[in-house]
Amino acid sequence: MAQVAISKVAKAFGTVKVLHEVSVDIADGQFVVLVGPSGCGKSTLLRMVAGLETVSAGTIAIGDRVVNHLPPAKRDIAMVFQNYALYPHKTVEQNMAFALKLRKTEAAEVAQRVKRAADILDLNPYLKRYPRQLSGGQRQRVAMGRAIVRNPQVFLFDEPLSNLDAKLRVQMRTEIKELHQRLKTTTIYVTHDQIEAMTMADKIVVMRDGRIEQVGAPLELFDRPANLFVAGFIGSPS
Ligand code: ADP
Ligand code: MG
Repeated sequence: MAQVAISKVAKAFGTVKVLHEVSVDIADGQFVVLVGPSGCGKSTLLRMVAGLETVSAGTIAIGDRVVNHLPPAKRDIAMVFQNYALYPHKTVEQNMAFALKLRKTEAAEVAQRVKRAADILDLNPYLKRYPRQLSGGQRQRVAMGRAIVRNPQVFLFDEPLSNLDAKLRVQMRTEIKELHQRLKTTTIYVTHDQIEAMTMADKIVVMRDGRIEQVGAPLELFDRPANLFVAGFIGSPS
């Protein structure tokens, strides 16, 4: 069974259609990358899975539940944003603990989960620091820590590396993949960067203008692009 099933999902803002009946199945533990040029509808689709945008038509299921009408907090997902969205007046530790406290998790459980995330992400030296006292890569790790402590069924990433310099981007790419290999959490990862898509994905969904052009493993897309757009985008000769 698909962990996330997006079935004929469409989105219009007013009269402007930005997604046209998009369907994607994501298996348990899979790392799926949505890739495509700026404006093609990647963030909108991810935000609908997160519950941050309403669905105009179609259904989104997570596990065995249709979630179209569930608020974000009830979807068992955790999202990592491009701008990190950390709380500036909370320490690293408090940033990670906050979502759990809101859910009235017991203090001992909060402490244990924060410790585990800090261990996984090498954040122990920085727990008492504030976001402004961290580098870009460290902030990104805190944003990931905040997602990990919630132990969600699904991680959603929206261009998490685009504010980092090229060297750090490569390093964080590896870290996110290692994190996935370790936790095996089902992941939907949005990027406009084909190299990120090719190196990180189990399965790539190539989008253009609110439609899916092709879905496949990185090598499948590279070897057998469905059309010139995919060929050009993925960078294979054709
Ligand atoms: P991507 O993430 O692929 O760059 P988006 O999902 O952000 O693309 O946007 C897809 C299209 O929807 C764009 O044309 C964008 O301008 C439009 N759009 C996104 N959010 C809104 C909104 N809240 N209101 C109106 N149009 C929007
Ligand atoms: Mg976007």
